[in-house]
Amino acid sequence: MTTSLPSTYIEQMRTLLGQDAERFLLSYDEPRTQGLRINPLKTEIGSVLTAELRKMFDLEPVPWCSTGFYYGDHRPGRHPYHAAGLYYMQEPSAMSAVEMLDPQPGEVVLDLAAAPGGKSSHIAGKMQGQGLLIANEIHPARAKILAENIERMGVSNAVVTNATPDELAARFPSFFDRIMLDAPCSGEGMFRKDPNAFQEWSEDHVVMCAARQWDILEQAVKMLKPGGTLAYSTCTFNRQENELTIERLLAAFPAFTLVGTERIWPHDHRGEGHFVAVLRAAAGEGGAREPQAAGAAHGRRKAERAPRGKGQPAAPAAAGMAQFLAWAREELPGFAPGQGDALLFGEALYGLPQVGGSSLSAAQLSGLRIPRAGLHHGTIRKNRIEPASACAGARCEPCVGAARL
Ligand code: SAM
Repeated sequence: MTTSLPSTYIEQMRTLLGQDAERFLLSYDEPRTQGLRINPLKTEIGSVLTAELRKMFDLEPVPWCSTGFYYGDHRPGRHPYHAAGLYYMQEPSAMSAVEMLDPQPGEVVLDLAAAPGGKSSHIAGKMQGQGLLIANEIHPARAKILAENIERMGVSNAVVTNATPDELAARFPSFFDRIMLDAPCSGEGMFRKDPNAFQEWSEDHVVMCAARQWDILEQAVKMLKPGGTLAYSTCTFNRQENELTIERLLAAFPAFTLVGTERIWPHDHRGEGHFVAVLRAAAGEGGAREPQAAGAAHGRRKAERAPRGKGQPAAPAAAGMAQFLAWAREELPGFAPGQGDALLFGEALYGLPQVGGSSLSAAQLSGLRIPRAGLHHGTIRKNRIEPASACAGARCEPCVGAARL
């Protein structure tokens, strides 16, 4: 395969790797690695079901992710257990980013470039249904796939948004305890997995990717709470998009410190290429967001226009939720109601996740495109409830518990 790689790319890798370059280039003749992550929201690592999955698919543990496994010569993506959300198909190296971000139950977390949902579902598994995850994707079609995957994985505490980073930053200043930015990149680490990926590669494309990554990072910084943690990851080897972007961030925002970086190399590890950097913002007023010098980073933006009202908060939604809960007491024993606000989008009833003592408010979301406003409970038609399957998959103990065996 090396013969079909762009010669400028090969030269770049020779300069980057020196005497390791030949070993690296030989790794292109090895088969790509394939993995899946067990979903702790639906089953546990020590469960009978997980033991069964390990046998069925010849699973072997991924060293850097306790729920991650390599699989053998099988097609787990076609099995009904995949449709049931018992696991998520994910390239093993990509599992390192959320392990390094280390989100905790009860926190407020943003996955800023989230589709199709590998990192979001990993984060949700670690949060165990407690706290708030906002999973955002800029492209509408991909945001829809993200929402479907969030539902398949039984996540009850995620809101899926379809916004630009600027739109979110205007709405959620200093809001998140942790932010995952799995940035769009030149994808050098994926050339073995997808030989067509290098068709798009060029030195100019790398420059464009680095500029875009910087634009997104500037917005991410605004949304991090003082003392918060930011994980930046790419699936490229390129220093311009990795270390140099992080150096630029540290220079522009002195309140950040670098907690650590990790690179996964296909010639040293069993995985495709990946880069992760974890940064922490200083605790204290405004720490994370103040740039070093005017013009070095972002300028202050004008206030957003008044939000357009899309979700209907308050009375009709609360009445809809009361109607749903009365139905669930009779028909869905074991359903655990959430504590967050109810929202109605037309006839669709959602329950917003709760954050600390208070719920994410409908006003905070109003005017954003939201493919999934928390847990879809059902559709309210006149006086009839049509329950959504998402509820059984996420909050109904008898349904979820059956998979824990
Ligand atoms: N985190 C995802 C996962 O683990 O499944 C993969 C994310 S992928 C590497 C990068 C994402 O960034 C893509 O879904 C892409 O649509 C999105 N993206 C592209 N341009 C963007 C931009 N300017 N701002 C934010 N996101 C962007």
